Amino acid sequence: MSYINEVLELVEKKYPAELEFKQAVTEVFESLRVVIEKDEAAYRRDAILERLVAPDRQIAFRVNWVDDAGNIQVNNGYRVQFNNALGPYKGGLRFRDNVNLSIIKFLGFEQVFKNALTGLPIGGGKGGSDFDPKGKSDREIMAFCQAFVTELSRYIGADIDVPAGDIGVGAREIGYMYGQYKRLTSEFTGVLTGKGIPYGGSLARTEATGYGLLYFTDAMLKANGLSFEGKKVSISGSGNVAIYAAQKAYELGATVIAMSDSAGYIVDESGIDLELIKELKEVKRARISEYVTTKPGAKYVAGGSIWEVKVDVALPCATQNELHLEDAKALVANGCLAVAEGANMPTTMDATHYLQENGVLFAPGKASNAGGVATSQLEMAQNSARLKWTFEEVDAKLKTIMENIFKQAHEAAVKYDKPTDYVLGANVAGFEKVVEVMRIHGV
Ligand code: GLU
Repeated sequence: MSYINEVLELVEKKYPAELEFKQAVTEVFESLRVVIEKDEAAYRRDAILERLVAPDRQIAFRVNWVDDAGNIQVNNGYRVQFNNALGPYKGGLRFRDNVNLSIIKFLGFEQVFKNALTGLPIGGGKGGSDFDPKGKSDREIMAFCQAFVTELSRYIGADIDVPAGDIGVGAREIGYMYGQYKRLTSEFTGVLTGKGIPYGGSLARTEATGYGLLYFTDAMLKANGLSFEGKKVSISGSGNVAIYAAQKAYELGATVIAMSDSAGYIVDESGIDLELIKELKEVKRARISEYVTTKPGAKYVAGGSIWEVKVDVALPCATQNELHLEDAKALVANGCLAVAEGANMPTTMDATHYLQENGVLFAPGKASNAGGVATSQLEMAQNSARLKWTFEEVDAKLKTIMENIFKQAHEAAVKYDKPTDYVLGANVAGFEKVVEVMRIHGV
């Protein structure tokens, strides 16, 4: 049996219930066949794949906190330190009710290759909790964040493991966690990123994932003789990634006509009013359905799939497995030119294959959404140097990093004779960097 199949079987046997983790591993390993099969004996001897699928360390802990009614609540907390070949573990924290070990492991596994692609010295990790900030009071969120970090603080550090935000963790949560870390350790270091600007955060970090997605997608379109100018775009989600992706899409001459949240989607053919979305989502923390109250010309569809809307470019920016085969078929039937992932693994594997087989340009999240973590590393660099760069300096570095990630994915795809297969290109380029250093460091 081929080495890849052996390790895929091993993963199946050891972690039968970890669906998202198995999906992420399968997606990466399938595209690595071209590389591994050229030198199978050496990869097998060094147990490279077994070492890549087993995190260096996975920490699970209990988080007790007191709600507003005076009752004690209990949640699960996780930090998976996946691989630190290239630098300190780096990756976000996700707070959402569906968080479990499989989801954190899939995110951590992806993060290793994503962080390698940035070309910056960061390893990969991920963490989170099944605590959902939605509907909680500010005091409850503070209580949870303090309890969570009280345990997490044992395992992290500016040169060890540097968490950040992800779904459910934004500036407010990072602020409460940073405050508690500082109280516990007396240290003022870059132990978390996504911090507020007044206490060590980096300008442009908030915008970075969305902007980075557009820089990558723009490079991909241009390499294929296309551009954003005059194109119609749909963006799933209405969180941080979606909002700043939309902003940059407008700057590049496109019109964003559809956005969504977990309850439904809106279509505004005249172009979505981003200021209104920001007001609804960032200030009022309301549902996207309220958009049509102010804009009666727009349409709200409860439930349903945003991918039914006819667009030139689709940007899934919500969560994993949100774009299925039937959605891919709808996009192809409507003449969609490109799909670029702003979220982590939003497209199922069969949908990805269908899009690629039907000539749709496809940007995998581990390459196209790497702008967030890359800018987190720029935040770490500023913290270590006790300096602050301007918005323009950070944004210019982000753009260069994203163009360079595209270049690496493109060159690796060309090398293996699949010039527009950026899934293959990103996986191979990230993998080669991590493995080279794993070998250098010995066992
Ligand atoms: N959660 C983001 C990601 O998926 C950012 C991680 C970070 O900034 O460390 O890459």
